[in-house]
Amino acid sequence: MSNSGYQAPLGTEDILPDKIGLWRFVEDTARTILGRYGYSEIRTPIFEYTSLFNRSIGEVTDIVEKEMYTFQRNSDDKDDKDSITLRPELTAPVVRAYLEHNLDKIKRFQKLYYIGPLFRHERPQKGRKRQFHQMGVEALGSTDYLLDVEVIDLAMSYFEALGIKDCQLKINSIGCPACRDVYREVLKKSLDKHKPSLCASCQERYQRNIFRILDCKKPDCRKAAGTVETFEKYLCPDCRQHFDGVKAGLDAVGVKYQVSAQLVRGFDYYTRTIFEITHGSLGAQDALCGGGRYDNLVQELGGEPTGAVGFALGLERTILALEALQVSVPANPTPGVYIITTGQAHRAVAFKLLKELRKRGVSADMDFEIKSVKAQFRSADKSGARFVATIGDDEARNNTVKLKDMARSEEKEINIQEFLTDKSINDLIGQK
Ligand code: AMP
Repeated sequence: MSNSGYQAPLGTEDILPDKIGLWRFVEDTARTILGRYGYSEIRTPIFEYTSLFNRSIGEVTDIVEKEMYTFQRNSDDKDDKDSITLRPELTAPVVRAYLEHNLDKIKRFQKLYYIGPLFRHERPQKGRKRQFHQMGVEALGSTDYLLDVEVIDLAMSYFEALGIKDCQLKINSIGCPACRDVYREVLKKSLDKHKPSLCASCQERYQRNIFRILDCKKPDCRKAAGTVETFEKYLCPDCRQHFDGVKAGLDAVGVKYQVSAQLVRGFDYYTRTIFEITHGSLGAQDALCGGGRYDNLVQELGGEPTGAVGFALGLERTILALEALQVSVPANPTPGVYIITTGQAHRAVAFKLLKELRKRGVSADMDFEIKSVKAQFRSADKSGARFVATIGDDEARNNTVKLKDMARSEEKEINIQEFLTDKSINDLIGQK
C-alpha cells in the first residue's frame, strides 16, 4: 500500500531498480541479436495523429474501436486541433517515418527495429497492461519469402538467446486481398448456419470482419470455426508458392512450427504470412510475439507498392517468462571500491579519492548518511564492492588507505597515489 496515497495509474507499472537487471538483459540481448541480423534502430514519437492508426490498423479492430488513448486539443494552433493518439503499435509510425523521410529513396530496402512503450486501454491483468513495451522489427522493401523466414528466425533466436526454451511458433497465410475475397465468401457460407451459436461480438464480426471469428476464444465460436475449411486451401497460386517457400525456409534452418488455420491477427494490414510465438509459462496471456507480412501498408499510407514484414514482441511478457523459468540474468552493477572513513574529518579526502577513482573509470562509492564506522562496513558489505578502502587517523596522516580485497580477505596499507595506479585497481577500470 502506498505511503503517500498516490498510485501509478491502473494498468501501468513502475520498473524499480531491483528489476532493472532483467530489463537491461532483455534490451541488451535484443540489440546484440538485432545487430547481428543487420537491423538499425529507429525512434518515433510517443504520439501520432489519430488518422494514421485509423487508416493502418483498420476501423473494425479492437484497438481502433476501443483501446486507443486519443486526445483532442482545442487551441488556435491549427496542428493542435488535430486529434492525437498515444501509439498503440509501432508498425504504422515506422512506415510513416520511412515515407516522410524518403528512406525508401535513399535505400529502398531497410531493416529497422524499435524498443519502446505503447499504450492500449485494455482491461489490465497479468501480462496485459495499459502501458507496455515492445521490441519490434520492420523489414521494408522486399517481397522475398526468405525475409519472412529471417524475421521469424530472428524472433525465435532472440528467445533462445535469452534462455526461454520451448517457445511455440504458429504460422498461417491469410493470402492477398484477391484470395481473401474468395475465402471471405467461403467463411460466410460455412458460418451462416452457426450464426445463432456465435457470441455477441462474433455475430457482429460476421458482418464487419468475419476473419476475426476464427481466433475467438469462446468455446462455441471455436467449435464453429473448427468446421470451416482452411484458408490455405483457397490461396491463389502466388500466395501458395510464397507460403510453401516460408515453410521450406523454416525447415531448412531448423525452426520448428505448427501451421494453424485458426491464426488470424488483430490488424487489417497483414497479407500472406502471419505468425505468433507463445510460451506455456504465461497462462491466459501466452503470446510473446506476433507478426507477419504487410505488403499493402506502405502504399495505403501514400508510398509506392512495397513488400514488408515484421513482428512485435512484448517485453513485460518476455520478463514474466524469464522469471517463471528462473533464468539467471546478470546482476546489477556493484562498486569496485567502497571507501570508509573513521571520522568526519577524513570525509573530504575520501570524497576526493572517490572522484579520482571514478575519473579513472572505476566505479566507486562511499557513505552519504554519516553512518558509524560499523554501519559503514555493513554498507560496504551489502554493496558487494570488490575492495574496501578505509581512511582513519593513521592513514590520513600518512597519506595512505587501508585496502581490503573482499574476495581474498587480504589487507594492506598503501599510499594513495600508488593505490590509484595499483594493478588491482587498474583491473577494475571499465568494469560494470
Ligand atoms: P500485438 O501488437 O497486439 O501484435 O502484440 C505483440 C505482442 O505485444 C504480444 O504478443 C504481447 O507479447 C505484447 N502485448 C500486446 N498487448 C499487450 C498488453 N496490453 N500488455 C502487455 N503486452 C502486450
